[in-house]
Amino acid sequence: MKFEVTILGSSSATPIFNRNPTSQALNINERMYLIDCGEGTQQQMLRFDVKASRIDHIFISHLHGDHYLGLVGLISSLHLNGRIKPLKIYCPPQLKEIIDLQLSYSETTLQYPVEYYFTNPKKAEVILENQDIIVETIPLDHRIECTGFLFREKKRLRKLIKEKLEHLNIPIEYYSPLKKGADYTAPDGTFYKNDTLTIDSSEPKTYAYCSDTMYNEMYFEQINGATLLYHESTFLNNMLDRAVETHHTTALQAAEVALKTNAKKLLIGHFSARYKTLNELLDEARSIFPETELAIEGRTFMIGE
Ligand SMILES: [Zn+2]
Ligand SMILES: [Zn+2]
Repeated sequence: MKFEVTILGSSSATPIFNRNPTSQALNINERMYLIDCGEGTQQQMLRFDVKASRIDHIFISHLHGDHYLGLVGLISSLHLNGRIKPLKIYCPPQLKEIIDLQLSYSETTLQYPVEYYFTNPKKAEVILENQDIIVETIPLDHRIECTGFLFREKKRLRKLIKEKLEHLNIPIEYYSPLKKGADYTAPDGTFYKNDTLTIDSSEPKTYAYCSDTMYNEMYFEQINGATLLYHESTFLNNMLDRAVETHHTTALQAAEVALKTNAKKLLIGHFSARYKTLNELLDEARSIFPETELAIEGRTFMIGE
């Protein structure tokens, strides 16, 4: 199953000439999900060939402008482009009011329904479940209420050892129960334990999105063992005071989070506009967590490869 994330924006607060505010597009089994929607996200989607019409779910972490100011534009474009299928938005409750106000003053009545699901910044909750994934909110520690999102792949069915099944002439109607873990007894009474006829599917992969937040162990347990951890890294550690003051994280702290929560891989982003190049941030994180990558715009990261 495809499980990958494309970075559309990696700048904090303000855009700079080569970086846009936060947005990421997730492709999970060919369904598209958008996380945050900073200003310029539509342009970035065009640039990196992410089809807006394919997005059915948008997750907004919090109401700082660098995470949602592109949303009303995207909603309007979908309307102008003839969308009729529903769009689901997972966000703080006040966002509906903000969007409704903008639509009402432009006298826009959307041709498609927008369904809002309000996040609770106080506790982790499952906000979406479908055949591919379960999505939970991650309460974070930021200046205003903020939730990250944890995307957890669903456990797949067991894989049949086809040659063995064919060799034993096991009828096809037993395939489905075998995939679910049932044992098999042949007509002559021979008993076959499930694990002699099937193999376990791979461990479900997880993508933990943590932006914006300061370093706080409150969310560590929930994100433990992430296949890919995206963590904001607004500053270098020599600006730790500023990070604490603004409720952000340094690259070194992001790497500490990855280390302490047993992440397989770390992706850092939400870089302050003061950094024209990002090598120092990468080096700092890699000094204690070598499996770190920069969230470079336009790059796609496989989750679990
Ligand atoms: Zn931000
Ligand atoms: Zn913020």
